[in-house]
Amino acid sequence: METSCSIFWHRRDLRIEDNAGLYHALKGDAPVLPIFIFDRNILDKLPNPQDARVEFIHDSLVALAEAYQEHGGDLRVFYGFPEEIWSKLLEEYSPTAVYTNRDYEPYAKERDAAVARLLDDAGIPFNTYKDHVIFESEEVSKNDGGPYTVYTPYMRKWRTRLEDRKSTYEGQTISYFLKPYPTEKYLRNLLLGKSEVSIPGLKDMGFAPTELEIPPTSVPRSLIRRYDEQRNFPAIEGTSRLGLHFRHGTISIREKALRARGLNETYLKELIWRDFYSNILQAFPRVAHEEFKRDYAGIPWRNDPDEFAAWCAGKTGVPIVDAGMRQLNQSGFMHNRVRMIVASYLTKHLLIDWRWGEAYFAEKLLDFDLASNNGGWQWAAGCGTDAQPYFRIFNYESQQKKFDPDYTYVKEWVPEFGTPEYPKAPLVEHKFGRERALEVYKKALAEARG
Ligand SMILES: Cc1cc2nc3c(=O)[nH]c(=O)nc-3n(C[C@H](O)[C@H](O)[C@H](O)COP(=O)(O)OP(=O)(O)OC[C@H]3O[C@@H](n4cnc5c(N)ncnc54)[C@H](O)[C@@H]3O)c2cc1C
Repeated sequence: METSCSIFWHRRDLRIEDNAGLYHALKGDAPVLPIFIFDRNILDKLPNPQDARVEFIHDSLVALAEAYQEHGGDLRVFYGFPEEIWSKLLEEYSPTAVYTNRDYEPYAKERDAAVARLLDDAGIPFNTYKDHVIFESEEVSKNDGGPYTVYTPYMRKWRTRLEDRKSTYEGQTISYFLKPYPTEKYLRNLLLGKSEVSIPGLKDMGFAPTELEIPPTSVPRSLIRRYDEQRNFPAIEGTSRLGLHFRHGTISIREKALRARGLNETYLKELIWRDFYSNILQAFPRVAHEEFKRDYAGIPWRNDPDEFAAWCAGKTGVPIVDAGMRQLNQSGFMHNRVRMIVASYLTKHLLIDWRWGEAYFAEKLLDFDLASNNGGWQWAAGCGTDAQPYFRIFNYESQQKKFDPDYTYVKEWVPEFGTPEYPKAPLVEHKFGRERALEVYKKALAEARG
């Protein structure tokens, strides 16, 4: 048996710096063993062995293991089913306590409840912390204690709450909620390792490397400063591309929010959208499967498989939709403005169930995050919390004129655009698609509302 230790379990927080749970573990009584589990409950369901997200996690773990080694600690990385791995870990180490940061997705909550039962049976405390968001759902609630379901009042309360408690950091007064956790001061409390890095290889887990480019973890200040002017134009590199890093915790949300506050209000508001959708998923886990607005549940989707295949492949004959889908397929990213346009086209013009689009994005997006993806799709379909009313249907032609007027973005992703090879007419043309959607939605809502 090893020396007595506690265990810190990394999940969506693949960094040492400003890591809430790790900080608390390091400040505890026992030396800390950091671990990560490649979870087969998740990995076995991924359809594509060339999945850049798995590769990204793998590469991030290599970097994390090296960072721990510099301080004498070993990161242990496992591949398997979490409950089985935990049973073995308890036998091997008999930890005095287990620490982790909270994950709010329905599957993660089930997994953690199962691990909590195992630990409880063994009399081991399971200490969990907030790290992934600035505020958890119950921290920003309405005056009656209930969760907000509309963004603007949520955002106002979020901002008031941020100012509620002050703290000092590097000689400045800042919000207590943005103050970094100084993990680096306590790294001497790592369990001393054997300097062995043993991380399961991608191949051993059934995956293969990809050539997708991973955006850096930091962005120039000038980009954030000009964010509000540039963020809507997909041909410009005007957004931060940090989504993937927020999702896997390779950067700290507190650090980025602290910086955004001084630089650009619009950028900060996007980070608040992220908290907002997490808050919705925490308070209403049912949205993972069903419409937030229940009266939208009976829309008779057409779900034409050929039209869905054309949408996925970027072959609808609508230039901005095709460009967006090809950007997604080729790079694992799609600009936010275009996400809204392609989602609207799928759910309104093609009348295809938003869950089909949501699942396709989940498979392809490097920055896939259940809460934000679900929120974005339900918004586009009209059934979400803040959804635009069903009768506001994006006109892809005016979106094109406004946000990509000289077709720079379209030409980048659809090389045959403007040649005879590109379809002359869209799969479903705007006027026809709009009127059909209005009719179908109106009828379904009238029936649902009796
Ligand atoms: C249909 C649809 C699906 C989406 N799916 C996802 C998803 O799976 N994962 C995801 O992180 N975002 C999703 N979004 C939100 C948004 O499109 C992306 O966060 C953004 O495009 C990521 O690019 P960026 O990092 O350059 O963002 P920036 O514009 O630089 O914004 C910075 C960060 O703010 C957060 N953010 C920005 N906009 C939103 C938003 N509308 N909702 C929630 N958070 C936001 C993200 O964490 C983002 O990285 C979706 C939007 C739509 C309309």
